[in-house]
Amino acid sequence: MPRILRILSGRPSTSASPRNRIREGGVTAKSAMVDTRDFINFDDIDENGPQSYSRTFEISPSELERFEFADIGPVSISANARKGEVPGEYVVDGSAKFAADLACSRCVEPYPFASSSAFNLRFEPRPKAPQNEEGEIEIPPDELDVEFYSERSIPLRELALEQIQLSIPMKPLCDDNCLGLCPQCGANRNRETCTCEESIVDDRWGALSEIRQAIKKRES
Ligand SMILES: [Zn+2]
Ligand SMILES: [Zn+2]
Repeated sequence: MPRILRILSGRPSTSASPRNRIREGGVTAKSAMVDTRDFINFDDIDENGPQSYSRTFEISPSELERFEFADIGPVSISANARKGEVPGEYVVDGSAKFAADLACSRCVEPYPFASSSAFNLRFEPRPKAPQNEEGEIEIPPDELDVEFYSERSIPLRELALEQIQLSIPMKPLCDDNCLGLCPQCGANRNRETCTCEESIVDDRWGALSEIRQAIKKRES
């Protein structure tokens, strides 16, 4: 056996990863042939009845308004859209799935996070009236889950982004018991013990002895 082949066969992981990448690419191309629509189109629903969509989007962490994303994988979204009960209303049911690396809000270390969430949205035409004195549109309390549209097509990518934003925790934690960073030296307390806490105590005693000395001076 030539030497180079022996080296390659000794490293199964390096030869496996490009093959996986090719397979993934094949799946994406296949599903793209089935459905390439980027938008939920309300006119299409009016004409042809309920529609189903299934897309996978590549999202970069910079597109999200949350700084906690260290990295994010492809986001799969599937949705069924149909006419609602009220004229001009459309109902969209679906689910979104993704995996990401989130930065822990205590220790800042990235940790794996996966989410699969279902959504149920109602789209209604953006109301022209009534408006209050500030010119804001008043929305009845029971319609807070409604999204108002002015364009009759909804980008699926925007829906996917919205679902990502909604599904990540307000304060991501690598572990509920994460000890966080030492506020003084920045050491990750999950991994190392620093001596800062002791010196805080020392400082407190120091302050106390200064007071004692001040009292002594006054007494003498
Ligand atoms: Zn943490
Ligand atoms: Zn410390």
